[in-house]
Amino acid sequence: ASEDESECPAKKVDLEEGHGSKVAAHYNDLQESGLHARSQSRIFYLRNFNNWMKSALIGEFVDKVRQRKKNITVLDLGCGKGGDLLKWKKGRIDKLVCTDIADVSVKQCEHRYFEMKARSRNEHVYEAEFVTADTTKELLSKKYSNPDIRFDICSCQFVYHYSFETYEQADMMLRNACEMLHPGGYFIGTTPNSFELVKRLEASDTDSFGNDVYTVQFQEKGNYPLFGCKYDFNLEGVVNVPEFLVYFPVVVEMAKKYQMKLVYKKTFLEFFEEKVKNDEPKMLLKKMQALERYPAAPNSKLASKKPEDYDHAKKI
Ligand code: SAM
Repeated sequence: ASEDESECPAKKVDLEEGHGSKVAAHYNDLQESGLHARSQSRIFYLRNFNNWMKSALIGEFVDKVRQRKKNITVLDLGCGKGGDLLKWKKGRIDKLVCTDIADVSVKQCEHRYFEMKARSRNEHVYEAEFVTADTTKELLSKKYSNPDIRFDICSCQFVYHYSFETYEQADMMLRNACEMLHPGGYFIGTTPNSFELVKRLEASDTDSFGNDVYTVQFQEKGNYPLFGCKYDFNLEGVVNVPEFLVYFPVVVEMAKKYQMKLVYKKTFLEFFEEKVKNDEPKMLLKKMQALERYPAAPNSKLASKKPEDYDHAKKI
C-alpha cells in the first residue's frame, strides 16, 4: 500500500479487511430470477454457454475418476446458489460438500438440493453437506462433519480469482481445494484469462474496456502485481464486484506445495472447439441452448456477432 492509500479511510478498511465481505454481500443480495426472466436476459446464451462448459468439464473428470472407483466424493468450492447441483446428480456421485462465503447463497443452495432430492424420489441422489466459510481465510478441514473426509474432485467454478487479493489468501484457497484430495484426485475449475484481460486493457485508450453488456475497470494500466491486481467487473447488473488477476503460472507453482501437478489447461475457445467434435457434448450444447440459437433473439443487436466475439470464449 502506498502512503496515500493508508491515509484514505475508505481504502484503509479495504486493506485491513480485504474485499471478502463486499463480495459476500454482493452475492447474498443477488435475487434468483425465474426461468422466464432469465430467458429474456441479454446474457441468457452466455450463461448457458458457461453452464455447458461446466457440465462438459465436470462430466469429463467424473468419468476419469469413475474408471478407478465407484463412490465419488466432491467438494464444490464457491458453490454459490447451487448452479451445479444437477450436474453432480447427472455425474452419479455419492457425496457433495458445498461451501461458499455468502451465507444466503449457501442456504439457497441447500434449499435447492432438498427440492431436487424431493423431485427425484426414484433416482439416486448424493448426500450433501453445506458449509459457510471464507475459504481464503478459514481452514475448511476444521468445518466438515467428518474430519477424515477425502475428496476425489474439488470443483471451483468462477471463484478462484477472488482469492488472488493476497498470496496468503490464494494459498489458503488452494490448500482448502487440495489438501483433502485423495492421491490421484483432481482440482478442476474455471477462471478469467488474465492474459486476455491485460491484452484488452492495453489495447484500450482508457483504464477500462468492454461493450454494452460488460465492463472491466482497472485502477491503472501498465502495473500488474502478482497479487492484489484488482479490477471491477460489471455484467448486465448480474455481477458488479472486485476481482483479481490470476497469473496462471504462479498457480501452477503454488500448487506444487500441495503435491499437485498441472494435467490440463485450456481456454474456453480451445475447450469448446475440442468438445464440439464429439456428439455427446455437441448435443448437450444444443439442448442447453448455449449456441444453437446463438446469440439471442432475432432483433437483438448482438445477433450479428460470432461466438469468438464473446469474452467468455476466451476465458480459461
Ligand atoms: N461456482 C458457482 C457457479 O459456478 O455457479 C458460483 C460462481 S459465482 C461467479 C462466485 C462465487 O464465489 C460466489 O458465490 C461467491 O460468494 C463465492 N466466493 C467469492 N469469494 C469467496 C471466498 N473468499 N470464499 C468462498 N466463496 C467465495
